[in-house]
Amino acid sequence: ASIFAAVEMAPRDPILGLNEAYNADTRTTKVNLGVGVYYNDEGKIPLLAAVKAAEQARLAAQPPRGYQAIEGNPAYNSGVQNLLFGAGSDIIAEGRVITAQALGGTGALKIGADFLQRLNPNATVYISNPSWENHRALFEAAGFKVEDYPYYDASTRGVDFASMRAKLLSLQPGSVIVLHACCHNPTGADMTDAQWGEVVEACRERGLVPFLDMAYQGFADGIAEDSVAVNAFAASGLQFFISSSFSKSFSLYGERVGALSIITASKEESGRVLSQLKRVIRTNYSNPPIHGGAVVAAVLGSAELRAQWEDELAGMRVRIREMRSGLVAKLQERGVAQDFSFVIQQRGMFSYTGLTAEQVEKLRAEYGIYAVSTGRICLAALNSKNIDYVADSIAKVL
Ligand code: PLP
Repeated sequence: ASIFAAVEMAPRDPILGLNEAYNADTRTTKVNLGVGVYYNDEGKIPLLAAVKAAEQARLAAQPPRGYQAIEGNPAYNSGVQNLLFGAGSDIIAEGRVITAQALGGTGALKIGADFLQRLNPNATVYISNPSWENHRALFEAAGFKVEDYPYYDASTRGVDFASMRAKLLSLQPGSVIVLHACCHNPTGADMTDAQWGEVVEACRERGLVPFLDMAYQGFADGIAEDSVAVNAFAASGLQFFISSSFSKSFSLYGERVGALSIITASKEESGRVLSQLKRVIRTNYSNPPIHGGAVVAAVLGSAELRAQWEDELAGMRVRIREMRSGLVAKLQERGVAQDFSFVIQQRGMFSYTGLTAEQVEKLRAEYGIYAVSTGRICLAALNSKNIDYVADSIAKVL
């Protein structure tokens, strides 16, 4: 018998399965709102001008392709730190943060999870209910028990902060708590600045290990504005983890550009922590690929390209906001009685629309509009050409 005879078919990834169904759909009016990708008004994944300029310069220079350091490109890593904490912040000056270039946000979460597993194998990891669908699988694959903390309240379409806080205050010391630093995926519901302050205090009081997932910096209000959570933890003096992803903010999805930052108690501790993190990386993939990190480092390191990138990022942010308010207005114009104004308050690329699984199925079957069965839609997949059709169709299935 084959050594694979007993291998069972794994369940399909729900979102990738949706993409396959969308691709197979022959209707010309079809729209894919199930994705987690930013499309421009032409329905294309943009190649940012700042990225293009940095890539052209890199190619023209014909750099050699030697191995990178295990922790990746130093200019990139320091660029990541400056984005997170602001250039010249105390935490950087004091040597209390180490950063390793990683394979996207997912790769950053994975090396962080593996490092934490060596540190405290019996800790439980808590993720928001609901959360990005890969969080649970990823921490489980690293060997952790994964549970939920209360987060989204469907009745208010916001954060059930009282329940969340009560849960945090009940956890065992050493528990790992995964937090979406901004633009919560999938709900679009973020905490207020004051609530972040309370989360920091709960982590301090219970001795929790905060792990901030920053996949959408710049998509809510701006680079610095979206660092509220990071800054609250940085000011606390606590130790914590941050995974960064530049997949969306630099539109570099397939280049796998991310980073893991770990904030320690001292420079001396940073040296020890980095040495162990490097062992984790070495046994996973040895060292990260060059291109994406070099491009991001070049953009962040040039005043001109950085300004251009911030403009382009602002353009993406503003376009998503226009799609939010446009959709709400268009539903209203079509006589929809239900109040959808919450869609305007939600932040980032996603909205939990409150559409039921049946309504989502009807959208797919009758109109060729694909959304996640939870009612999550990606606002960045709407554009001036499909928004009327989407509004018409939603109005009809409600
Ligand atoms: N974390 C969250 C909350 C995300 O939404 C995503 C991507 O969708 C990631 C992490 C992973 O990012 P990357 O594609 O860079 O691995």
